[in-house]
Amino acid sequence: MSFIDRHLGPRSADAEQMLSTLGYDSLGALMDAVVPEQIRLRADLPLPEPLTEQDALAKIAGYAAKNKVYAQMIGAGYYDAVTPAVLRRNILENPGFYTSYTPYQAEISQGRLEALLNFQNTVMELTGLEIANASLLDEATAVAEAVVMMHRANRKVKNGFFAIDSRCLPQVISVVRGRAQMLDIPFVITDFSDGLPEGDLYGVVFAYPAQDGQLRDIEPLIKAAKERKALVTVVADLLALTLLKSPGELGADVAVGNTQRFGLPFFFGGPHAAYMAVHKGMERTLPGRLVGVSQDSSGKPAYRLALQTREQHIRREKATSNICTAQALLAIVAGAYAMYHGPEGLRAIAERLHTNAARVATALQKAGYGIVHKNFFDTVVVEAPGAADELVAKALDAGVNIRRFDANRVGISVGESHGDAVLGRLVKALGGELPAEADPAFGIPDALLRTDDYMQHPIFHKYRSETEMMRYLRRLSDKDLALDRTMIPLGSCTMKLNAAAEMEPISWPEFAGVHPLAPADQAQGWHELIRELSDWLVAITGYDAVSLQPNSGASGEYAGLRAIRSYHEANGDHQRNTVLIPLSAHGTNAASAALAGLKVAGVATASDGSIDVEDLKAKIEKYGDAIAGIMITYPSTHGVFEEQVAQVCELVHAAGGQVYVDGANLNAQMGFAQPGKFGGDVSHLNLHKTFSIPHGGGGPGVGPLAVREHLVKYLPGDAYTADAEGNLPEGAALPIAQAFFGSAGVLPISWMYIAMSGAEGLKSSSAYAVLNANYVAKKLNDKFPVLYTGPGGLVGHECILDVRELTDRSHVTAEDVCKRLMDFGFHAPTLAFPVPGTLMMEPTESESKEELDRFIEAMETIYDEILEVADGKVALEDSVLRNAPHTVEVVSADEWDRPYTRTQAAYPVKSLRLNKYFTPVGRIDGAGGDRHFVCECPPMEAFDLEAQ
Ligand SMILES: *Cc1c(COP(=O)(O)O)cnc(C)c1O
Repeated sequence: MSFIDRHLGPRSADAEQMLSTLGYDSLGALMDAVVPEQIRLRADLPLPEPLTEQDALAKIAGYAAKNKVYAQMIGAGYYDAVTPAVLRRNILENPGFYTSYTPYQAEISQGRLEALLNFQNTVMELTGLEIANASLLDEATAVAEAVVMMHRANRKVKNGFFAIDSRCLPQVISVVRGRAQMLDIPFVITDFSDGLPEGDLYGVVFAYPAQDGQLRDIEPLIKAAKERKALVTVVADLLALTLLKSPGELGADVAVGNTQRFGLPFFFGGPHAAYMAVHKGMERTLPGRLVGVSQDSSGKPAYRLALQTREQHIRREKATSNICTAQALLAIVAGAYAMYHGPEGLRAIAERLHTNAARVATALQKAGYGIVHKNFFDTVVVEAPGAADELVAKALDAGVNIRRFDANRVGISVGESHGDAVLGRLVKALGGELPAEADPAFGIPDALLRTDDYMQHPIFHKYRSETEMMRYLRRLSDKDLALDRTMIPLGSCTMKLNAAAEMEPISWPEFAGVHPLAPADQAQGWHELIRELSDWLVAITGYDAVSLQPNSGASGEYAGLRAIRSYHEANGDHQRNTVLIPLSAHGTNAASAALAGLKVAGVATASDGSIDVEDLKAKIEKYGDAIAGIMITYPSTHGVFEEQVAQVCELVHAAGGQVYVDGANLNAQMGFAQPGKFGGDVSHLNLHKTFSIPHGGGGPGVGPLAVREHLVKYLPGDAYTADAEGNLPEGAALPIAQAFFGSAGVLPISWMYIAMSGAEGLKSSSAYAVLNANYVAKKLNDKFPVLYTGPGGLVGHECILDVRELTDRSHVTAEDVCKRLMDFGFHAPTLAFPVPGTLMMEPTESESKEELDRFIEAMETIYDEILEVADGKVALEDSVLRNAPHTVEVVSADEWDRPYTRTQAAYPVKSLRLNKYFTPVGRIDGAGGDRHFVCECPPMEAFDLEAQ
């Protein structure tokens, strides 16, 4: 059987039956009816013939073989770390974790929420700050977020500037430069050797340690900044903080950085989880997701996403950031790494690294080299006037990559796996000999040594044995619904199969072990794979070029809007500062526009859900030459292929604007339409939706930016080519992420998907996605009317089920329906987006007819339950709907006084007797949790059974 036959859910006999339900005699006829003629692509996509699983794996193994894995001591933001096998196998390679969605539906996400809370608590403990979020995209964007957040949060210094440490990594400075430029925030880059700069300083960023390895006492500078009412961010190495005074103790307000060295491979630059921690009081301005503790309906502690972090789709351009997908899966690994080692284990690793680095410094000093800084953590910078290239070459001969700072200095960053054998070899190649002991001159100054206890909570002490850790991870994944248990019909999220063969290559050391700054000849396989994948994405979308740098859809949006702004500016159109965004757009669209310094003007939707062309014309009239462009989603988030899309694009072009087509819905149109051909100038795609990268419980993601010819020169550049001021070489656009290829480590997944699908297979994916959505829509339409349909009464690859009329009659809400679906073992559809009071469902092509029928049966049963409330037979508060979901504890309790039976609660349909999932908690009080915001791991007494 071919790959695509396995990838698609319905068997061909099923498909025929579904087509006849819809009244079409072939898939081709269905697609002809769905996709408007004007935009229809008639040629085949120029892609190679599909490969079998075995052949695709053999081909990608060929790319892997072209990479060379050296001992990586380059540092520069990426450090050698050991991934404990128990974490790789049971988290990174475990579909129970990697196929789950962002935990919006908290009751079926307690496992990953707990794991993310553990990550947050690790960060809080090590930074000495009270609140931490559940990951950011990478260190460079985390610093950029901090700079913007301090700007927003500092109410004492208005309209000021910030100062950033010139010894932050160059990629950090260039990403920050780009953000600040877009928002017109002034800043200075300084090493603070003359203290703080004069003027209205609203925020300061210090590197700790500095990128050249130096450890210095930043406490006096922090004190001075506080006296000036500036907020302070410290960019800190989390592992170093096991030995060093924490940012909190030093007086910082914010700490950010990377957690890569907590057990994550290099991945050729990403994905890795960055972190951000803040003082209490700043939680409401914090970007990204934040897990908090609340209570369920029985008073038990329960976790959920807290505060503003759930509500981006409502807050739009006023959201605290545009972050939607972050790095959840990687954060879960980093948190588990901290738990597995515990405070003493982490400290031992850090001490060993530090001692080894000091031994290297001792040897090289003895061999006659100058050592630039005596006080360092893991990075030794060696002075070698005019000889840096020679040293790099000698190290290479010994199988080690080291960092070339400039012609006169090299850096050596010692990592977790580096033992005496490789260190001895390196030192020998450089003309020295590794001593048994380090010269005590190379140490951490007493003033910087950490003296407080950290990570004292029992969770950091319970899971030392592998058996205990394995079982803990199993317990966590058992609490959750991921794709390995049920379809996840989340509209706009495309939760399709993440095939095992697609996943396998990502943990091969020939891919995962390559440092993003390794010499090009060591990464030849990576470059060939990336080139080929880029070409394929160009072929699929009809654009002219693509950048794989954005590490989420929203960061693709930001990059795309920046390209639009740069284009207008190059044309002298500085006044084009307004972007039109339909009210139905994904919340990230408006939030990204705000980040790119653009104003947002809403465009109304017509009664059929499409863009209101009259309103669009009025807005074009009103904003005139201030229009930078429009952001549209196609097919629209209403699930419809709008006929007038070409007209919309023409109107905006005629007004001098650019057209941004949000490509998150590309799954509906592969091989049938191309945004680069029907009017788009720029799009982002979501490889973690359409192209099979798993969602990881909220990341990693890849949001490639695809553009037409005239925007190619505005694609984000390579941060590593930045000078000390963060500027890129003439003509290159500033980067938007730390690594040139963003989350490169997961690109093999999409490569495998396309290689195994070929042009026909991708087309089948889209056609089956449309078939599945229309089948569900048709079957449920009588009970849950489909809100918007296009030509022929058909939808695209998703549909909005309207619950509002039922809500009016019964007061049962769409949220009640979501919670009740959990009792049937389903993940809910997307709730209240894009239309409040509705459910948007997207089955994807990977779901079988059997699974769709199971969902339909569940919805029909729920409909009958709603009618009982509407007819007054059952009071809403006592209903099975309002009391959903039902835990084992509730249905097996000795007392039962509800107006429905236990069977009705837990086994409302017969098939559940064969396969039943119980939520670990009852319905969670979200609002109550926000009123009393808590993000510490609950004390063990909270789970004390005697007390309850
Ligand atoms: C998912 C999605 C996004 C955002 O993508 P992230 O990777 O989560 O940042 C943007 N637009 C639409 C229409 C989406 O569905």
